[in-house]
Parts: sequence; C-alpha cells; structure tokens
Amino acid sequence: MLIFKHNFFIDIRAISATILRKSWLDRKGYIYYLLTIDKDKYGKIDYNKLANELSQELKRYGDLFNDDDYIILLTKYGVYGSYYLPNKIFINIQRDIKDIVATIIHEIIHLRVEDIVKQKRLNHEEKEELVEDMLKEFTAKDRQKKEM
Ligand SMILES: [Zn+2]
Repeated sequence: MLIFKHNFFIDIRAISATILRKSWLDRKGYIYYLLTIDKDKYGKIDYNKLANELSQELKRYGDLFNDDDYIILLTKYGVYGSYYLPNKIFINIQRDIKDIVATIIHEIIHLRVEDIVKQKRLNHEEKEELVEDMLKEFTAKDRQKKEM
C-alpha cells in the first residue's frame, strides 16, 4: 500500500538533505529545487488532491507495492526522488504527474533491491543500472498483462 504524506517538516527535511549533499549532487549532475520554480502552478498545491491522482495513476503498478507499505513524502523541494530504508520515499512534486509516477516507481524499486545492492557491493552507477533494468522488466510485464 502507498501512504502519501505532506507537512512542513517534510519540506524542511528535503531542503536540509539537499543542502548537505549539494556538492555530491552537483558532481553527479542531479537536478534539485530549493525554491518554488513556478509560483502560479506550484504556489498553492492541494496535496490531498495530488495524492489521490497519484494513487489512481499508480494502481496499475500494484504488483510492486501491494504486499508492503511505502510512505511517500511529498514536497516541493529537493531532488526528483530519494529513498530511505526501510520504506520511505521523498518525492518532488514540481513536475508533471507522469514524471512523478515514474520517479515513485523508480524509488520503490530502489527500496526493493537494496539487499541485492549491498550483497553485490554495487557502486552508485551499477545500482542505478540495476534499478533501470528491473523497471524495464516490470513495465514489459505490465504491457504483456494489458495485451492479454
Ligand atoms: Zn535511482
């Protein structure tokens, strides 16, 4: 199950985590936000409405998360997405809904493969590759299911 949350402290944590990792993020070329990029669009976000929309969109990926609980922390700040073991995900909402959905799936896969990552001692690039491979495998299966 996916549990969506938003509050002031989530924003503060996203901002501080970003500032602490800033030089690493810059080195790796990550995009992150420390301010509101479009005040008209994202100034007054209805987080409950957004959470409902995301739940709807994510329904068809249920195989990924139906057996476990994942807490999705919505914020305007920080990188597109990041994960914290065992089951927390920070998600930046200053993007299109399709992109947010893709990032949520990406981060859930991160949480699910972290044991393998540690076992195999994968570095950052290898870890991202593994996640992308699993994502491809999963979406291929999803497509097959729809065609059947
Ligand atoms: Zn990743």
